[in-house]
Amino acid sequence: MREIFIASNNKGKIKEFADFFREYDADVKSLADLPEAIDVVEDGDTFEANAVKKAEEIGRRFNRAVLADDSGLEVDSLNGAPGIYSARYAGEAKSDEANNAKLLRELDGAADRRARFVCVLALYRPGRETVTVRGTAEGEIGTELHGEGGFGYDPLFYVPGEKRFMAELSREEKNRISHRADAVRKLREYLQQEGGNLL
Ligand code: IMP
Repeated sequence: MREIFIASNNKGKIKEFADFFREYDADVKSLADLPEAIDVVEDGDTFEANAVKKAEEIGRRFNRAVLADDSGLEVDSLNGAPGIYSARYAGEAKSDEANNAKLLRELDGAADRRARFVCVLALYRPGRETVTVRGTAEGEIGTELHGEGGFGYDPLFYVPGEKRFMAELSREEKNRISHRADAVRKLREYLQQEGGNLL
């Protein structure tokens, strides 16, 4: 069995990606399984640049296959902000509460509240070109918080197709419609076209 390293320390994400890789007969590992810790500085100016940098720096250092992701929220009337700065929108403390409060302030009185979650995946495989795919989930930013589930901007993100806020969906429901699910579907399609093998 071949190994694939998920470049994330988020247990929820690692589990989601492990489910995805089950069908490829791959042994899913996390950064904690690498011989030493590696810290990649996310200084790109797009989701793609950050995901590729993470996957390639880790993959090249350890000569391993690596899947990295970068995600965030784009709000149309804010010209795509918070975008790649989603985690630290309201400051380095990376507080979901403060980020949501800032987003509500920025959109105070705004009529156009369209937004999307974006997830870019980058797959590095030694000796091959890095693959990227972009998944999205379209929605609208509400005027107050709703629901207890999810994380980040989920309590403010209204999903028209579900007629509920992201934080009101069960984990299974969110995992069916999320930007991460969309990205994973696109990666699967890409690999199928390539011949069906991951590694
Ligand atoms: P990262 O890709 O884990 O660095 O996520 C960046 C930031 O985007 C998070 O801290 C959240 O603020 C936001 N974000 C990404 N995915 C989601 C999601 O599924 N729900 C809510 N917020 C998200």
